[in-house]
Amino acid sequence: MELDLLTESVVPEHARGVKAEAREFADEHIAPNAERYFDSGEYPWEILEAGMDAGLVAADIPFGAEITTEYGSERQKEEYLEPVGRNEQITGLAVSEPETGSDLAGMSTSAEKDGDEWVLDGEKYWIGNGVEADWVTVYARTDDDEDNRYGNYSLFIVPTDADGYEAEHTPEKMGMCASKQAHVIFDGCRIPEENLIGSEGAGFYMLADFFNHGRVVVGGHGLGIAAAAIEEAWEFVHGRNAFGRQVNEFQAVQHSLADMRLTFEQARSLNWRAAEHVAENDRAGLWASMAKVASTEAAVECSQSGMQLHGGRSIFTDRRIARTYRDARIPVIYEGANEIQRNLIYSQS
Ligand SMILES: Cc1cc2nc3c(=O)[nH]c(=O)nc-3n(C[C@H](O)[C@H](O)[C@H](O)COP(=O)(O)OP(=O)(O)OC[C@H]3O[C@@H](n4cnc5c(N)ncnc54)[C@H](O)[C@@H]3O)c2cc1C
Repeated sequence: MELDLLTESVVPEHARGVKAEAREFADEHIAPNAERYFDSGEYPWEILEAGMDAGLVAADIPFGAEITTEYGSERQKEEYLEPVGRNEQITGLAVSEPETGSDLAGMSTSAEKDGDEWVLDGEKYWIGNGVEADWVTVYARTDDDEDNRYGNYSLFIVPTDADGYEAEHTPEKMGMCASKQAHVIFDGCRIPEENLIGSEGAGFYMLADFFNHGRVVVGGHGLGIAAAAIEEAWEFVHGRNAFGRQVNEFQAVQHSLADMRLTFEQARSLNWRAAEHVAENDRAGLWASMAKVASTEAAVECSQSGMQLHGGRSIFTDRRIARTYRDARIPVIYEGANEIQRNLIYSQS
């Protein structure tokens, strides 16, 4: 019995072409190299470049640039977005700080106006592509109004070659090893005043809107990991014997696989529903948070069960199940820890 979890039948007609292309690309370029990059922890430039050649990177200008796409001025789009769209530049989004991640109204990196420039001081942490990027979107404090905590922040385009921008990689991770994050220090970092995105004080609200999209995408990360865990577990128990039987013949094992499938399908249905709500801007925040929690926790649950079904072999680091188990720890944290999502689900219900 073959599993076909990532079937195109659940994908809307208009998205099937790009899904098929992405799948083909993943089979050819990512799957055969994933373990090697996971082990070496190197940035997968050759895969990124192949993805660019295949027209799969920046097709909708991703990599932290969505905010500029939505709120940027014409000049910002021309100077910064177009090179990303042409795959000549890469970018990232710098929000989290060493001492503050979840509390978006508690960040301390500041931006002060000095003549026709903004001067940034402070530190950011976990910044994807912070070393590799050509420019990053930075979330910084521009006011100090305790009665309007959410109106104190603004977003800026900061070229990584600006004076006063320093970045180094964060320590090695146990999961998603080929993605790179940075510790960034802004020390009197000067950028032109026109690099403010949208209006001063609107940063928190622009970011909240961006996260509605991002959380559905991170839900997709969770679903991918969950699907990989189910595939691995399925294949393993159908090829292993114990007590004179194939392991999949034990009813407890069948129930475990059935539960994994249920968890995955429930999360996937919610994720698609959330994608519609976000696309139509209909209670987007609520649905994006629900999808993010359900799908990323499906990844954790399915990886955990998949490990158990692999027995002792689960612990070998070269096993794909061990990789999904480690990768699954990340989406429950990034794009807002799941506790924060639960706060949002409750408050927006
Ligand atoms: C691999 C990876 C990539 C990342 N990429 C980026 C990036 O590109 N750009 C970027 O800006 N950030 C990025 N992040 C940072 C990520 O968004 C933060 O790690 C996340 O928001 C949590 O912040 P924190 O780690 O500071 O945890 P904290 O905010 O310190 O929270 C720690 C824990 O405390 C608990 N907690 C905190 N607040 C509450 C609450 N209100 N209610 C209940 N429990 C709570 C939760 O269990 C939480 O996990 C990345 C993180 C990782 C791991």
